[in-house]
This record gives sequence, C-alpha cells and structure tokens, in this order.
Amino acid sequence: MLGKVTLVGAGPGDPGLLTLKGAEAIKSADVVLYDRLVGAGVLELIPDGAKRIDVGKRCGSHRVSQDEINRLLLDHALDEKNVVRLKGGDSFVFGRGGEELELLQKNGVPFEVVPGITSAVAVPAYAGIPVTHRGTSASVHIVTAHTRDGINPDIDFKAYAGIGGTLIFLMGAALLSHIVKGLMNGGMDIYTPCAVIEHGTTPAQKKILGTLNNIEKKAGRIESPAIIIVGGVCELSEKFDWYSKLPLHGKTIAVTRHENSSSGLSSILYSMGAEVIECPCIHTEDLVDGRTADQIKRELKECDTVAFTSANGVRTVMELLKKQGCDARVFGGVKIAAIGGSTAGALSEYGINADIVPGEYSGRVLGTAIVDSGAEKVLLLRAENANREIDEVFKRSGIGFTEITVYRTVPECEFNMTELINEGKIDYVTFTSGSTVEGFMQFHKNADLSSFKAVCIGGSTAEKAVGYGMECMTADHASLASMAEAIVCDAERGER
Ligand code: SAH
Repeated sequence: MLGKVTLVGAGPGDPGLLTLKGAEAIKSADVVLYDRLVGAGVLELIPDGAKRIDVGKRCGSHRVSQDEINRLLLDHALDEKNVVRLKGGDSFVFGRGGEELELLQKNGVPFEVVPGITSAVAVPAYAGIPVTHRGTSASVHIVTAHTRDGINPDIDFKAYAGIGGTLIFLMGAALLSHIVKGLMNGGMDIYTPCAVIEHGTTPAQKKILGTLNNIEKKAGRIESPAIIIVGGVCELSEKFDWYSKLPLHGKTIAVTRHENSSSGLSSILYSMGAEVIECPCIHTEDLVDGRTADQIKRELKECDTVAFTSANGVRTVMELLKKQGCDARVFGGVKIAAIGGSTAGALSEYGINADIVPGEYSGRVLGTAIVDSGAEKVLLLRAENANREIDEVFKRSGIGFTEITVYRTVPECEFNMTELINEGKIDYVTFTSGSTVEGFMQFHKNADLSSFKAVCIGGSTAEKAVGYGMECMTADHASLASMAEAIVCDAERGER
C-alpha cells in the first residue's frame, strides 16, 4: 500500500495561526519534512515517534536541494509512510508546493493540501494593516522580489507603480532599495506610504513605517524574514495597531516549570504578547506503587483532612488510585485542602472540589486554615523534598498528622540561560515553587541575578528567591493567572 503526502501550510510564525486540519495532519504523521520558517510551537506538535527532517535553507545556500526534497517525499510515501510536508505560511504562495506535488502526481502517490495562513496577509494584519480597505485599496498584489542572481528581480515596476492597489513584496529584505527605486522610477508617488515588517506575528515583530522616498533610510539593515508593504493602507497601521499593544509585548520571560497543558503559564504569557523561553529547572519522579495506594487508603480511614501542596502531588495520587481501580470516592469521608489555585484546579480535573483553599500560597497559611477548620488528624500527600512549614503549624497546634511522600523533584537544566541573562535579554524569570528556585540556582550560578525580576507564586517561594539576592515580585493569589497579572502590572509601571 502506498503512503500519502500532505502539504501543510504552517502559518507565518504564531503557532496559533496553524489550522485545525493542519494540526491533525501533523499529529498523525510518520514523517515530517519542514522548513526554516516553521515556528517552534508548530514543530512541538510532531509526535515523539515520528521522523523529523529539517530541509530548511540557510543563508541562501540550499542545504537540501529541491530535487532531494521531492525525492524524500516520494521515497517515504512509497515506503507506506504518512508524510507531512510543513511549510511556512501557505504552501502555494511562493512555497514551491506545486513543484513538490509534480513528482508525486507522476508516480501516482496520493496527496492532500492543507492551506496555511500566508504571511502576505497575516503579517500586515498583526501590524494593523488591512491589505484592502474600502476607499483606499481595492486590490492586493503579492510579488516575489526573489531572483536567481540575487540582484535584479524581474518585476514590471512600471505596471505595479500604476496599479493602484496594495503591493506586498515577499523575499525582498535585501532588495528594498531596488524595489523603492523601481517603483519611484516607474512613476509612483514618492510619498506613497510603505511599511517593512520583520518577524511578523511573533514576539520579535518589528514594524517600520515610512514613505517610498524615506523607508530605506528608516529601515536600515533589515532582518529576515520581512515583508514590504506599499500602499495607502499602511497609513492605517497606527490606528489599527493591536499586537504591539498587547500588555507583555517586547518582554522576554523565562518559565522554569514543565508545561504540560495549553492553559500553562507559557501559553498565558504568550497570549499577552511576551516572548517566552521555556527552561524547566526541575523534573519530578514518582515514588508510588501499589503499596503506596494501600497506605493512602489505610491512612484515609484514620484522618479527617487530606492536604495537597502541589498540582503534581494531586496528579500522582489520582493516577495511582485510578490504576488501582479507585476514583474520587476514596476521599468521600474527609475534607480536602489545597495550597493554592493550581492545586485546586488539578483536583477539580478529577471531580473534586477542595474544601479549603487559602488565598495566599504558603504552607504556613494552609496549615493555619486547616487548624481553623477544626481538623484533628491530617494526611499530607506531598513531595519528598517539600517545604515543611506546615508541620510547624500542626506541631504548635497539637494536631496529629502523617505524611506520605508521593514524588520528588530533581533539579535539571535542558537549556541554560546564563548567557541570555548576562546579556540583559531576560526581563522576568517565573518560579512556581521553592524547588524551581533551587533548581535554577544550581544551574545558573554565574548568572547576574540583578538583571531580571523574579516572579514568585507565593511567599515561601519568594523567600527562597530573595534569599539568593533576587529582586522579587509575588503574585496576589497563588495561581498562574495571578503571576501573569503581577508581570503586567510591573511592566506597565516600568513604562510610565
Ligand atoms: N509560503 C510563505 C512565503 C514563503 S517565501 C507564505 O505564504 O507566507 C518567504 C518570505 O515570506 C520571506 O522572505 C518573507 O518575505 C515572508 N515571510 C514569511 N514569514 C514571515 C514573517 N513571520 N514575517 C515577515 N515576513 C515573513
């Protein structure tokens, strides 16, 4: 049986601009061939077991030739593989998608095309430029400035100069001078509004506005990828700008926890316009087996309250119980306490509404709330190396407690940020537990801690960060959303 090739347009950079159909195709691929312009967020969707082939081009020199790409697609499809060919933007807009289909078609290999959002319209849209606008522009012309010799694009400037619509030039970063001169020599008004947009739809987006006669000077050295827009619609850019007004636009934030859900901190910050660097500083190891499940069930008979001090603790326990054929009813006879919003959120994923969730994220505050609720015997389900503040509160109040350790956190560093930090490129580093602070310090001993602000989920995490000398902000409530809010407030203060 033959495999199949699906050409998928990955969109212009923001992973949120990939289509649903494109995402489905990637998730079920055996082999994925991708280009340089495909965003990291889209590449993350490639299944672990799938083969990834980077056929991106670097610095004008083709790393993998077009013939080789065509051949790779054919060979994998003949090998019965489900192949996805991922390209930036849309595959048929200067994407050589047609060329890649020819060999497949000749060999009778089935193929499908999933259109993508082309940079030609998305990049202007993120810069507040509608490519058509009633009364200003009634047509759009997408032009490639790319040439084989890299010098003289074969563009009929005279025709474009008089066409009256919006002109969008792709692959023109190095040829801006040639383009503006060509249009002016072709008779276009030298004051026609223009825009150059680099890294469109990404946190690194940069917009330069001008007119035909001054855009070259204003733009200076242009970074690729960039598009050039010429036409009256560019004047609307200031009025309709929205992306650069997102509250965290221009900020770079490091997230030190593992993100395993789309509602994670990285996604929240990204949707607010921040550049997010994921740098997990800890990972967790389960410490549970069948005996732990029996022990938990036994202890539940003895206690009146169960306390969870992390979302990971909740998930570890609930998954263990599930494996043992149990469900949330195990907790039917006891009160449940959660240290904060994320832990309570994890409980609700398993159908449990926590009875006690203090507003402040701290073991001491949780302990006091449990004591105040009239508890007499508490079961603590937590990490081996968890903060033990809560124990002090119980000891002082004289109530009984038992702990069962269900996981441990282990420092790790997939990506070391020391250099970025020391270059002043990181504005904030987020910490969602004391152990993330410890993990971070273990691997960033030589980082200049004064060059960023630490954003902590609660008091005890903040104490750790301050202890190392970091300038620190603490979320009002123990939740990821509240951490994001704290950053927004701080960023706004900084701009005033
Ligand atoms: N098939 C793609 C275009 C490929 S040609 C599409 O539909 O978008 C590559 C050119 O696209 C680049 O040289 C640049 O002009 C433009 N481009 C792609 N992504 C871009 C981005 N994020 N910001 C600005 N221009 C981009």
